[in-house]
Amino acid sequence: MTDSEEPHIDADVIIIGAGLAGLTAAYKILSREPSLNVIILESSKDVGGRYRTIQMVTKNKRRSSFEVASQWINTDQHDLLELLEELEIPFVSTVIQGSVIKEWNGTEVCKHRLGMLSGLTLSEQLELAHFLVKTWDRATIRNLASITFQEFIDQNLSSDNVKCFIEYVVLINCAVPPDKISAFFYIFYCISNRSLVDQMVSEKGTNRYRIKQTHKNLCEKLAEKIDPTIIFLGEPVLKIGVSKKFVKVVTIYDCL
Ligand SMILES: Cc1cc2nc3c(=O)[nH]c(=O)nc-3n(C[C@H](O)[C@H](O)[C@H](O)COP(=O)(O)OP(=O)(O)OC[C@H]3O[C@@H](n4cnc5c(N)ncnc54)[C@H](O)[C@@H]3O)c2cc1C
Repeated sequence: MTDSEEPHIDADVIIIGAGLAGLTAAYKILSREPSLNVIILESSKDVGGRYRTIQMVTKNKRRSSFEVASQWINTDQHDLLELLEELEIPFVSTVIQGSVIKEWNGTEVCKHRLGMLSGLTLSEQLELAHFLVKTWDRATIRNLASITFQEFIDQNLSSDNVKCFIEYVVLINCAVPPDKISAFFYIFYCISNRSLVDQMVSEKGTNRYRIKQTHKNLCEKLAEKIDPTIIFLGEPVLKIGVSKKFVKVVTIYDCL
């Protein structure tokens, strides 16, 4: 089969990845040049990449959701703040003191406990602390390399909320669920990045903005604005070739 006979789509702009960067690029390009034929190729089954809305059950047994890998915006992230205003995604000004966030909602100052941990009960926080500090003591490299991190979690934790917490931390940090990596890989990653422990450490005296809960997150809104039919999900890009006339992007199924 020659190149021209291969199944293909012609496009002016091909963006690889439907994370925040890819979606914002498509949105900005199409806002300026609506006539361009732009497509986005995304390897996973969802848009958003690392940007996720997490659902959890709180201490009071209420369902709660919050934005992970997107929640905080520094005062100098002007482009992101502009984008939020343009897409009408609400955010509030906050100041963090110790483990308390003070938020100005327009009429009064509201106080919240900081971090993902506030969704866990005291006994769940103790189980998590034990898991973080003690569990590794008994593990050997040979054992850890032969099981997935999900199996390791299941063997060492009983609370569903704590399992859910750790599963999301892995998903956010490594962009894959814990059943796709070995326990050894994740522990090595933690040692080099302090990632799991970092989730528990609060920063002090910081002024930032925080995105409020909405029924659609920033990436979902961007995808909606730019026309979801130009986003091809489940299309991992394998190869990019450049000739004098065009760029050829090869995905697992098709040639574009
Ligand atoms: C724990 C954590 C907390 C964070 N908190 C904040 C915060 O509070 N505020 C903030 O502003 N930022 C925060 N960030 C940073 C923010 O999440 C990232 O900067 C942002 O999500 C990155 O977006 P991206 O599009 O560049 O990459 P990604 O979100 O990683 O998206 C890349 C996309 O490309 C796809 N892809 C990769 N390879 C291929 C391929 N070959 N073919 C097709 N598709 C492919 C992936 O599946 C993915 O969907 C945080 C990050 C982490 C990890």
